[in-house]
Amino acid sequence: MTITKNLEDIKSKLPESVQLVAVSKTKPVEDLEEAYAAGQRVFGENKVQELEQKFNQLPKDIKWHMIGHLQTNKVKYIAPFVHLIHAVDSIKLLKTINKEAAKNNRTINCLLQFHIAEEQSKFGLTLEEAKELLQSDEYASFQNINIIGVMGMATFTDNTTQVSNEFKNLKNIFKELKNGFFNQKNDFKEISMGMSDDYPIAIQQGSTMVRVGSHIFGRRNYI
Ligand SMILES: *Cc1c(COP(=O)(O)O)cnc(C)c1O
Repeated sequence: MTITKNLEDIKSKLPESVQLVAVSKTKPVEDLEEAYAAGQRVFGENKVQELEQKFNQLPKDIKWHMIGHLQTNKVKYIAPFVHLIHAVDSIKLLKTINKEAAKNNRTINCLLQFHIAEEQSKFGLTLEEAKELLQSDEYASFQNINIIGVMGMATFTDNTTQVSNEFKNLKNIFKELKNGFFNQKNDFKEISMGMSDDYPIAIQQGSTMVRVGSHIFGRRNYI
């Protein structure tokens, strides 16, 4: 029953307006079933194959979020059912998502991922790159994607001031994009930030969606 208790504990700390994505990567289906029985309906995974397998085994009213880096050649496997893709960081990926969404007669919700941490990473856009993407004719032609916000990961550090500043930066990026590109669009409203160790700080800085794994399901043996 630990999972149920952990979920209750985290939910008691979240404002109503903040969505909890239960990050279940590497965890067995039984663990997700316990969370489901406790009322959790939004789950996050970071590997396409695992996401697909769990989708097939679990109730169909679950909203599945793909939170990890996504390769273009794997989009087709999740396009029929994925609810939100968090880590979009190139026009090439967006183009593929658009194409696969169209094949499935759906619109797929996406978040643009930003590189806000000090740590080196191959993933995530800069504000300039995002603006370029959003101004492009190619982007304007996409009919089957819906960008509903931004996502980012803070540096893995005990320095809470730094983490707080990085989240603040993401919130500012969100505001700038909202004003510049999504002014008329009410559904551009999500700021996906905050994990097990930093979600309280993320909430202070305006997170609307936290992605919590180990504080719900316990530590993972691998990433
Ligand atoms: C694994 C993962 C999480 C959850 O991490 P925890 O520290 O276990 O809460 C959140 N976001 C992303 C992108 C992840 O890969």
